[in-house]
Amino acid sequence: MKQDQLYQNALKRLGELESLPDIQNKDSKDVKELLEKNGISRRDFMKWAAAMTATLALPSSFIPLTAKAAELAGRIPVVWLHMAECTGCSESLLRSDAPSIDSLIFDYISLEYHETVMAASGWQAEENLTNALETYKGQYILMVEGGIPAGDSEFYLTIGALGYTGAYNAREAAKDAKAIFAIGTCSSFGGVQAANPNPTNAMPLSKITNKPVINVPGCPPSEKNIVGSVLHYILFGVLPKLDAYNRPTWAYGHRIHDLCERRGHFDAGEFVQSFGDEGAENGYCLYKVGCKGPYTFNNCSRLGFNQHTSWPVKAGHGCIGCSEPNFWDTMSPFEEPLGNKLYATAFNGIGADKTADTIGVVLLSATAIGIAAHAAISAMVKNKE
Ligand code: SF4
Repeated sequence: MKQDQLYQNALKRLGELESLPDIQNKDSKDVKELLEKNGISRRDFMKWAAAMTATLALPSSFIPLTAKAAELAGRIPVVWLHMAECTGCSESLLRSDAPSIDSLIFDYISLEYHETVMAASGWQAEENLTNALETYKGQYILMVEGGIPAGDSEFYLTIGALGYTGAYNAREAAKDAKAIFAIGTCSSFGGVQAANPNPTNAMPLSKITNKPVINVPGCPPSEKNIVGSVLHYILFGVLPKLDAYNRPTWAYGHRIHDLCERRGHFDAGEFVQSFGDEGAENGYCLYKVGCKGPYTFNNCSRLGFNQHTSWPVKAGHGCIGCSEPNFWDTMSPFEEPLGNKLYATAFNGIGADKTADTIGVVLLSATAIGIAAHAAISAMVKNKE
């Protein structure tokens, strides 16, 4: 779609949303007041909107629209369900000593049901969920965190006083949702619950409902990818462009490796050989101590976490590939190069003694295979659009 048309569509949609009643029921009347109360100026807010517009891969002409979308976030009801998980995805967004604009925007969203942050418990919590699904039937965004035990093992995740299973709750909530997001790797791909031998038969959300699910993986995903997903929906009201694994390409279109700050050292053949060595002190590439950045599609190397403070590679540990399907099985051991595993498995044990010293050939061929497969699947998906 041409940019002009995209812009006009977003403008029309925001106009429609503006005419809807604000359903958020927080203390602050509007987002401006909420930001002011937390010491965030209009100027900071517009800077944030500019950064978010760039994150969403939109041109700068969209900055005022992104700001408007954030201001209208209170018009969109959100139901957030927890399944089998650690709540790290919610924590990634909500926990900070000084609230970021991302966390404030998320707070401003009309969060109709979220087990971690709501005050209700027991019967009242169950009633809240039923009410939210009824009241906002066909309008709410459903966000689900966690893998979901399925089939004969559904009962492994039994929730609340009514004794419904997680799979049942997810299916019911998905039925009348306007858009569905799987937040985090567990919900997107099964996560650690689904790692071999997957004792509870944990499944991704997309295997529980037959409605389209947008995957926002990561363990956890960054606050930008969660809030950006909501803003994109507010702006356009349609599915974003997705890759082969249903991840939005604005967030998961490039490899970690492509924009990594240590990439120059990789290209120069300068590697950390073991944690704490001189290479580590010099900030060399972490491939030989297990970095999976070359195989992992995400924007961590561009955006970082915790308000750009840091991210694993900056902190000195390699990427573990947490936004890729089945990464617990395919990317481990996390502190060894994938090249070692390829020799040990793909070549049927022949050359299992090979180590990261031989990574040149292995890495390049594995990366090439990975990229070619990704590109081919993406092309197939694109042709279907
Ligand atoms: S292998 Fe890892 S540390 Fe090295 S450049 Fe790539 S992403 Fe960065």
